[in-house]
Amino acid sequence: MNVSGPVVIVGAGISGLACANTLQEAGRPFLLLEKSDAPGGRIATDHYEGFKLDRGFQVLLTAYPEAEKALDYPSLKLRNFYNGSRVWFQGRFHTLADPFRNPIAGIASIANPIGSFADKLKVGLLRTGLISTKSIPHEVPTIQALDQLGFSNSMIERFWRPFMGGVFLENDLHTSVRKFEETFRFFSKGAIALPEDGIGAIPRQIAGRLPPKSIRYQEQVVEVSKNSVSLRSGEKIQASAVVLATDFEQASLLTNSKGIERDWNSVECLYFKIPQKWLPENKPILLLNGEGEGPVNNLSFLSNLTSCAPSGWALASATILGRREESDGTLVEEAITQMKRWFGPEVRYWELLRRYSVSKAIPSFQKKESFHPVIDNIFRCGDYMGTPSIDSALKSGREAAELILNPKLIPTRE
Ligand SMILES: Cc1cc2nc3c(=O)[nH]c(=O)nc-3n(C[C@H](O)[C@H](O)[C@H](O)COP(=O)(O)OP(=O)(O)OC[C@H]3O[C@@H](n4cnc5c(N)ncnc54)[C@H](O)[C@@H]3O)c2cc1C
Repeated sequence: MNVSGPVVIVGAGISGLACANTLQEAGRPFLLLEKSDAPGGRIATDHYEGFKLDRGFQVLLTAYPEAEKALDYPSLKLRNFYNGSRVWFQGRFHTLADPFRNPIAGIASIANPIGSFADKLKVGLLRTGLISTKSIPHEVPTIQALDQLGFSNSMIERFWRPFMGGVFLENDLHTSVRKFEETFRFFSKGAIALPEDGIGAIPRQIAGRLPPKSIRYQEQVVEVSKNSVSLRSGEKIQASAVVLATDFEQASLLTNSKGIERDWNSVECLYFKIPQKWLPENKPILLLNGEGEGPVNNLSFLSNLTSCAPSGWALASATILGRREESDGTLVEEAITQMKRWFGPEVRYWELLRRYSVSKAIPSFQKKESFHPVIDNIFRCGDYMGTPSIDSALKSGREAAELILNPKLIPTRE
C-alpha cells in the first residue's frame, strides 16, 4: 500500500474522530473531511438564548468500554443521573430505584405497582447474571425476549416499554435482544451521564486533540476511490487510504454498493424553559410514561444535572418517539396537556424553546449483521458496524484505523 499521502477520513462524527485519533497516536498523517461546519455528526449541542440544547436527548453510559478508553471522563465533568427512574402510572409517580446502589429506595420500590415482586426479583437476577438473554437468538425482538424471560405484562408495559423504548428510540421494542442485553449490562455496571457542557463536549474533546489543519469543515465528498477523494468544490485529494466514517447509506452511495436502503429510528425532542420557581422536581432523574397516554415517552429536568440553563431558569427535555407530522403548536399542546396531568396547572409557565425532529437518529437494529470493514479497498466505520451507539461508533473508528496501520489484520471475506 502507498503510504505517502494522508489517510483521508470522510465524516467527523464520533467514528471518524476516533479513527483520526488512533492514526494521530500512531503518527500516521490523516485528513478529516466533514460536510457540516463542526465535529460530532449526530452528537451536537446548540447554544440558544443562554441554554445548552443537545440535538436530541442522548446520554453517555459510563460503562461503555470503548468510551472509557477513548474519552477523558474527568475533563468532561460528567454528571450522573439518579440510579433509577420515576414512572408515571395511575395518577402519580412511582420510583424504581436500583437496589444495588440505592438500597433504601430500592427496597421501597418493591411494593409499587410497576411490576410484581417476581418481576423485580427477575431484574435483580438479570443484573447479577443469574438469568440471561445470551441463549436467545439475535433476531428475537426485545419484546419477545422479555416475555420469554417471564416478565409480567404490567412490568413490560409500565417499565420496559417506556424505558427501553427511550433507549432504542422505538416503542414496539422490535430491536434485537442483543441491544437489550448490551444496554442493560452497561446500565447495571455504570452510570447514565452527561458532560457538564452537553453531549457535544464528547466529540469536541476528541477533535481538540487533533491538529487544527487536519480537519476541514464544509467539505462534502462526492466521489471516492481507494487512493483519492473528490470534493463538491471539484478538488481532488490523493490519499494513501480512504475511510468512510459516514452513515451506512452514504458509505454505500459513495462505493456504489447495492442495498443502501436502511430503516432508521426517529425521535422528537421538545425543550421547555421553566421559571426556576415553578420547577416541579429537583432530582436529576429520568421520568417515564408508564401508562402510554400522551406523546411524551420520557422527560428529564436537565438543569438539575448540568448548568444548561441561565440563572432563574430550568430546562426540561421531553422525548417523543418516532416521526411526528404535527405542527409545533399541536405537538406542544398535546405534550403540555400530558405534563399538566403529571405536574399540575403550573405547567402553564412552561415555554417551548426548541423542537428537534431527528429522523435519522439511530439505525434500526433488528438483528446482528456483519459488515465487512473494507469494500473495494475502501475502509468504512460507523455506529452501524456494531450495536448502534456512541460506543460502537468509537470502536469501529478505532478498528478501521488499526486495519490501516496493520493491513494484515484485515479479515478475509467469507
Ligand atoms: C437523538 C439521538 C439520540 C441518541 N441517543 C443515544 C444514546 O443515548 N446513547 C448512545 O450511545 N447513542 C445514542 N445515539 C446514537 C449516537 O449518537 C450515534 O450512534 C453516533 O453519534 C454515530 O456516530 P457516527 O460517527 O457513526 O455517525 P454520524 O454521527 O452520523 O457521523 C457521520 C458524519 O459524516 C458526515 N458526512 C456524511 N456524508 C459525508 C460526505 N459525503 N462528505 C463529508 N462528510 C460527510 C456527516 O455530516 C457526519 O458528521 C443517539 C443519536 C441521536 C441522533
